[in-house]
Amino acid sequence: MKKYKKEIQFHLLINICIAVFLSIASYIHIPLGTVKATFIYVAHFFIIQFTFFGFIYFFSMFKRLFSVLFPIFFILFAGFSFWEYSQNITITPGLIQTILETNSSIAVDLINPPYVAYLLSALIVAIFCIKRFSRLENNVLKSPLSILAMIAIGVFFLVENQRSGTFSRRNPYSVIFSYKKYFQQPSLKLKKVKENITGIKDSLEIILVVGETLRADHLSLNGYRRNTSPLLSQQDNLTSYKNLYTPFTFSSGSIPQLLTDKSILDKNKKELISLFSILKKANFHTKWIGNQSLEKSFKNIVNTNDSVVIIDKFHSVFSFIKEKDIELLKHHNFNKTPAKKTITTFHMVGSHWYYNSRYGAAFKKFVPITESKHVGSSTKEQLINSYDNTVLYFDYFLNSLINRLKKENNNTVLIYVSDHGETLGEDDKWFHGNDHRTSQNPAMLVWYSEKFKTKNHSKIAHLQSIKNDSISSNFLFHSILDISEIKGFSYKKEESIFYKKKEESN
Ligand SMILES: [Zn+2]
Repeated sequence: MKKYKKEIQFHLLINICIAVFLSIASYIHIPLGTVKATFIYVAHFFIIQFTFFGFIYFFSMFKRLFSVLFPIFFILFAGFSFWEYSQNITITPGLIQTILETNSSIAVDLINPPYVAYLLSALIVAIFCIKRFSRLENNVLKSPLSILAMIAIGVFFLVENQRSGTFSRRNPYSVIFSYKKYFQQPSLKLKKVKENITGIKDSLEIILVVGETLRADHLSLNGYRRNTSPLLSQQDNLTSYKNLYTPFTFSSGSIPQLLTDKSILDKNKKELISLFSILKKANFHTKWIGNQSLEKSFKNIVNTNDSVVIIDKFHSVFSFIKEKDIELLKHHNFNKTPAKKTITTFHMVGSHWYYNSRYGAAFKKFVPITESKHVGSSTKEQLINSYDNTVLYFDYFLNSLINRLKKENNNTVLIYVSDHGETLGEDDKWFHGNDHRTSQNPAMLVWYSEKFKTKNHSKIAHLQSIKNDSISSNFLFHSILDISEIKGFSYKKEESIFYKKKEESN
């Protein structure tokens, strides 16, 4: 009996360690509200802990393997739970994608003292557990606990079969399942464009600005209470769109959709056509100037451009002390268009966390700002102030770009679209990668030159008439092909913001 007592003690210990370091993180931010809800979540928590016991129990049969692998996995999962605890993130295949496809040399920027302290404590706890484990003389198959463990595993599969996600959306299951889902995703294949394509006869300069993490409702242009767009609000020929919708709330999902024929409804479309490939066929010169390193998910698409310039090679959304977006403009020749028809894409780092790294001292208008990369150490007010300062910087960036384009006096149209929005404490959530309305409503603006205006009166009237309409992020691909007067490649004209459906005559 003494033998079993030790065994029970060990499994209780390891279960508590898993609860504290891993699984509670997935529950802590759930708003409970009622007694009933509290009861349900407490019950849910105890059942999930019971299932952990089942897996750990049989895993510990392989004594050596368990002693080596348990601490490794424990630290790995703890690395995720820290972000769940501190930032209320959800572990999804999208998050795994972001982690795996981000340049590893910048990962060092993610490390902060509380994170290191958390991982060190997890390591100490894991070693302590393994020490206790080595003192057990276990022959698990003969123990009565093995029946309980079998029931626990049975409960896991039974419940997951009935309601998928019940357990697998919580740490540490969520990490394992998200990895699995990520690796099951087909990799992006680009289709070659074979058609004979022609485009607009006239000269046309398209400027595409792909923004980052800018939500529509934080622009004063769209009615935000703070004056976050003081410069852009003075610009003529500029329209802001309030109601853009995208279901893709992380860059690696949204950018491939924006730049190809993929529709927001095509969840698993395997072969995509790059917007740039089509324009090249129509004799456009295509250029990409980026302030973010290229992720696996959109690298191939970007590389269909005639030229690609990345101004700061190791700059990703996870790196903090890097080039500001205004540096992008130095890499473009604004004086003369190198070809008659051009599309130049500026890819910003925009308003991505860590907000303070995105703007200079002159834009620290809303104070106090956050002082820590650790979200839990800042107030909501500080975080929103920091974010709004990035919006102010965006105003300066886009305004500078427009002023340069105005001086050129070309036939120019500029489309700005952010890849997704950001959640700023609504429903107790932060950042993006979630299905929150604040992440799904990115900012979108269109500006055109005087020359463009004279040539396109009816298109412009239409552009302005739809500024309060609901637009999906499908618009970009079709609008650019429409304005380029592409022939020989079929696209959906009705998705174009420049296209007005003819009124049906009665
Ligand atoms: Zn993004």
